[in-house]
Amino acid sequence: MNRNMKDLGKELLDFIDKSPTAFHASQNIADILTKNGCTELDEIEPWDLKPGKAYFVRRNSSSLIAFRLGTAKPVETGFRIAGAHTDSPLLKLKENAENISAGCVRVTTEIYGGPLVYTWLDRNLGIAGRVMVRTKNGYENRLVNIDRPVAIIPSLAIHMNREANKGFEFNPQNHLQAVLTAKADKKNVLKSLVAKELKEKVENIGQTDLFVYDLQKGTFGGDDDEFISSGRLDNLQMCHSIMKAFLSAKKPKSTIVAAFYDNEEIGSRTLMGADSAFTRTVLERIVALTSKGADDRFVAFSKSFLVSADGAHTQHPNFPEKHDPAYAPKMNCGPTIKFSSSFRYATTAASAAFFESVCDEAKVPWQKMANRSDVPSGSTIGPMSSASLGIKAVDVGNPMWAMHSIRETAGTEDHYFMTAALSLFFTK
Ligand code: ZN
Repeated sequence: MNRNMKDLGKELLDFIDKSPTAFHASQNIADILTKNGCTELDEIEPWDLKPGKAYFVRRNSSSLIAFRLGTAKPVETGFRIAGAHTDSPLLKLKENAENISAGCVRVTTEIYGGPLVYTWLDRNLGIAGRVMVRTKNGYENRLVNIDRPVAIIPSLAIHMNREANKGFEFNPQNHLQAVLTAKADKKNVLKSLVAKELKEKVENIGQTDLFVYDLQKGTFGGDDDEFISSGRLDNLQMCHSIMKAFLSAKKPKSTIVAAFYDNEEIGSRTLMGADSAFTRTVLERIVALTSKGADDRFVAFSKSFLVSADGAHTQHPNFPEKHDPAYAPKMNCGPTIKFSSSFRYATTAASAAFFESVCDEAKVPWQKMANRSDVPSGSTIGPMSSASLGIKAVDVGNPMWAMHSIRETAGTEDHYFMTAALSLFFTK
């Protein structure tokens, strides 16, 4: 394994370990951008943009759009945009639903997105998310990460369901409750845990967005460390790749944009999702502040290009028949360009050709993916962003196994390849 590939893989593992939720991913990206000289802007204030400088804006503490002004104005060259999502399928804790069963205190969870549910059982789970804390001056938005095994969702022993290995349908209300303690006389266990972690009084803990997450750290795997196994590779791997590429482009000609959206896993139609006005608002403000023509924003948008980056399914050695053999991406064979005749992916022949040329110039291999013709395709932020902004787009992603499992596996070399391709995309 090439040293640079391994180093970048280590950075990725560290980034994911520090990002148990979309809130933490967004905060980590903000911290790294700030450390690299980017300035945070607030949507409620007027912006003062300087040529060549980099900025970022956040919504709901879980989505973030960063941009660096190019040497040319957006009306001249358009925007170069790469987008990914900060959220992953998780189990969300219903804070008011603490209850007692079989002498244990447990909390009802709600399924967020589409996790492979059985992978969440028998894991040592931490609790993380966002909390509104009451202070003298009103509510304060705080992140919390209880990174010790405070919760568990035990599975039922095989002896009590001999048919378990033939498949079991979980009832989310009954079977996916997170057990917090066997001391049934304890009250307010969840809020007490949060209060202790934040060094606050329990009565000051207000509304929460809390999730359980797997505490097992990510790791390399395989004979030559060619695999990366971790939770949330979908889609923190692409977030990391885009962030690294964005930071590597110090003096781009076009204005470059790195977009990190929450809520892709539940359809993106939220205040801060990819199907909101967030991107349009940011791009229009940039055009308005860099040129004067009444229709400049339309010109800028039509000259722009979006790379939507999200996980792709690698052909599975134990289920090879699940792919169309002609469109079956392999691990560590480069970025996958995704095609769908019904445009569940934004890729057109023209946008694919452009991305292929970027990869070729970056000396990065690339491959193609389309679903079997008898299996419906998944989707991404690509089609909705492309359609609503009127910006040409391609859907790409790194191959992985077990998408939406609590632990997914991707290729170490692929992460390097994608980052190299996106770096060139931002400067080409
Ligand atoms: Zn995804």
